[in-house]
Amino acid sequence: MIDIKNLTIERAHEGFKNKKFTCKKLVQKYLQIIKEKNTELNAYLEVYDDVLDQTEKAQKMFENETATILTGIPFAIKDNILFEGHKASAGSKILENYVATYDSTVVKELKKQGAILIGRTNMDEFAMGSSTQTSAYGVTRNPYDTSRVPGGSSGGSAVAVAGDMALVSLGTETCGSVRQPASFCGLVGLKPTYGAVSRNGIIAMGNSLDQVSPFGKNVKDVEIVFNALSKYDPMDSTSIKLPPRPSDTPPYQGGGKLTPLIVKEGVGGGKTIGVPWHLFEKGVDSEVMNNFKESIKKLEDSGCEIVDIKLPYSKYSLEAYYIIMPAEVSTNLSRFDGMRYGLSEKGENLAEVYKKSRGKGFGQEARRRILLGTYVLSHGYYDAYYNKAIKVREKIKEEIVGAFQKVDFIATPTTPTTAFKLGEKLDDPVAMYLCDIFSAPANLAGIPAIALPSGKDKNNLPFSIQFMAPHFCENSLFEIGKKFESLKK
Ligand code: GLN
Repeated sequence: MIDIKNLTIERAHEGFKNKKFTCKKLVQKYLQIIKEKNTELNAYLEVYDDVLDQTEKAQKMFENETATILTGIPFAIKDNILFEGHKASAGSKILENYVATYDSTVVKELKKQGAILIGRTNMDEFAMGSSTQTSAYGVTRNPYDTSRVPGGSSGGSAVAVAGDMALVSLGTETCGSVRQPASFCGLVGLKPTYGAVSRNGIIAMGNSLDQVSPFGKNVKDVEIVFNALSKYDPMDSTSIKLPPRPSDTPPYQGGGKLTPLIVKEGVGGGKTIGVPWHLFEKGVDSEVMNNFKESIKKLEDSGCEIVDIKLPYSKYSLEAYYIIMPAEVSTNLSRFDGMRYGLSEKGENLAEVYKKSRGKGFGQEARRRILLGTYVLSHGYYDAYYNKAIKVREKIKEEIVGAFQKVDFIATPTTPTTAFKLGEKLDDPVAMYLCDIFSAPANLAGIPAIALPSGKDKNNLPFSIQFMAPHFCENSLFEIGKKFESLKK
């Protein structure tokens, strides 16, 4: 019997090595759970038909001793991550039958290490949303309460792990799309530093913000996945090549070594955590706030120094995000014109083909953002909106980098509420956008951030705390994450 609930990457690896179970046995177990649960939860849009072939290859790697820590580990991947020869629809009708013609860099790496790619997961259309309800392929349900959303846009990848239908998974973040569903589904979610993980082969939403981001049941699993995927990629012009360091061994191990934590005098080996209390004055659910205060208290009792910090520009993060992101979306989605990819409707002339294909292929949220983005980039409005938002973004980045001169981490609740009901906020886009209020600063500033489970509410729904760290300080996030995990619940 494999204890799936408590399985971790390291335990699975030990199990394979000590021949307690084979890769096939483990994968079959997950496939069986998918069969039992996926009809209701709709985490997977497709289970790949070559899973057992992949498993055989992985088993051989154990036999010929070329296995790595990820060999045989079952992964779910978001429907916007390209896997050659397999469908990728980004949750949209416009890409319904699109088959990837090449592997994304992250998939190439996972394949090389013999990880098992079980299937592609449901998501908000083109990653636009916070609840996985804008997908063209139905909603995904939260395993803690199936009348509630799992969060989004990477809701399918979150539910795959929370519902024990994969051991770990990949999502993508443009603004909280991994941390927010991690929060709603009781998981750990990491948004890496912008440029740490290759975006090559990811269907773009907002290029200056997007990052492939892992989900796991604990910090260690997420750390292992991040370490495997974070390396320089010449195929991504925004991938960051770090200066060679003598002790550096590929793959890049995060930033703990590059930017050491600021050592404070008299803190007794603790860490300094900045809390921007002024940002929580409005709109945060009182239960969420109480849970956050309890978490901060636990950290303080364990030796951390808590410092009240002010981030006056970060208050405008969502406003800046909802101008910059749609601008990038309107540019990125212009390639879906009915001629090159996926859906193509017949028309009398070229303009009609465009109109009919795009009209039929895009859902309401994608259309809303294309219109918004086109507007803020249009002649006469560019300076008033787009350029202004870019300036605000720079200010936010500056003040966050400045704050890290004084503190090692910045902590906030991950989301202002716990998981909400299906259908809620759907006809109020602004209420939906507010879900990302604490996610946006990290994406805009390009810094890494981690979401960690911090208990449950009276309805048994998970709470979550977020830590942000300076650029390339993922290692510090893993350190504080493990410390937080070890504190008594
Ligand atoms: N909720 C964000 C949005 O709707 C999520 C974007 C993302 O991270 N992919 O834009």
